[in-house]
Amino acid sequence: MAIKRDYYEVLGVERSASKEEIKKVYRQLARQYHPDVNHAPDAETRFKEINEAYEVLSDPDKRTTYDRFGHAGPGGLGFGGFDFGFRDPFEIFEEVFGRGFGFRTSTQRGPRRGADLRYDLHLTFEEAVFGCEKEIEAMRYEPCPACNGSGAEPGTSAVRCSKCNGSGQVRQVQRSILGSFVSVTTCPACHGEGETIALPCSRCGGQRQVYVSRKLSVSIPAGVDSGTQIRLAGEGEVGERGGPPGNLYVVLNVEPHPTFQRRGDDILVALQVNVAQATLGAQVKVPTLEGEEEISIPAGTQNGTVLRMRKKGVPHLRQDGRGDELVMVRVAVPTKLSRDQKALFQELGKTLDPEAVWQDKHSFVDDLRELFGL
Ligand SMILES: [Zn+2]
Ligand SMILES: [Zn+2]
Repeated sequence: MAIKRDYYEVLGVERSASKEEIKKVYRQLARQYHPDVNHAPDAETRFKEINEAYEVLSDPDKRTTYDRFGHAGPGGLGFGGFDFGFRDPFEIFEEVFGRGFGFRTSTQRGPRRGADLRYDLHLTFEEAVFGCEKEIEAMRYEPCPACNGSGAEPGTSAVRCSKCNGSGQVRQVQRSILGSFVSVTTCPACHGEGETIALPCSRCGGQRQVYVSRKLSVSIPAGVDSGTQIRLAGEGEVGERGGPPGNLYVVLNVEPHPTFQRRGDDILVALQVNVAQATLGAQVKVPTLEGEEEISIPAGTQNGTVLRMRKKGVPHLRQDGRGDELVMVRVAVPTKLSRDQKALFQELGKTLDPEAVWQDKHSFVDDLRELFGL
């Protein structure tokens, strides 16, 4: 990827520019650089750049991400360069100016790929860890089955547009101080289709498409996490004029677990032991992803010690192996003692060396280092 100009610089606005300001500047620049009116060799490149900048800066979420991460995007995946490709600049232009604004519109540009769609799917912690099959109900526009996408009531057909004689374009002579010139624009009567519908299809109202709900099954591999995207190729919007369909991106959102914390593919869990168990060592049960398991607490275990249970974490996504379970030991110091217990602690206390704990070579600082990979 070539070095990209800063989006704010592309539009020539301050970083604090309001949404309205950005739109206003975009409208000016997009008109100025539209390749149909600007025949400078770099007009199309500039036009694309302007649309890309506008696409990001006009969307509050994308703008925030861009402000934080720049062109690299979060995780360095490339802003939009990973799964969500940038939209067609002419499409953005049409959205802002309206279809058939007067410049070239998509209808004259042959096949067009369908738009990508996004579906947000919630998963439980376990579903994400072990993978699952999910059925989702996704909506998209599809060609109307009643009229086969023609827009005309079955039994009737579209008629050639009388305004443009079926060419989809109208020529206008414009006069200016430099003389007159001919401009070719999209026919406003048929929006460039070359045909008009006399009797619109009753099912789709002449819109050629209907909004349909489809059930799709999604295979969630083990080891996914919040933000993971599953691409369902060809399940996005249907393409136009023979163009291929877009993709459907299922974006995952994983619920937290009451016991386990996830850090990458490692699982963190806190384990409480009493002073005697920590001092003398003990066999205790800990929760794991596969149910309770027994581990050994070594004698002299300090508060905050991290015990690693290898290969008890989350399976690596689309790879062999899995992470570890990290058990952080919390030594509970008793707060309520019976008279007898108190007497025992007092007896014990007389015999304890207060320095002893610091001579343990596995210190709390080591544990933190291990835990946070410092
Ligand atoms: Zn129809
Ligand atoms: Zn026409």
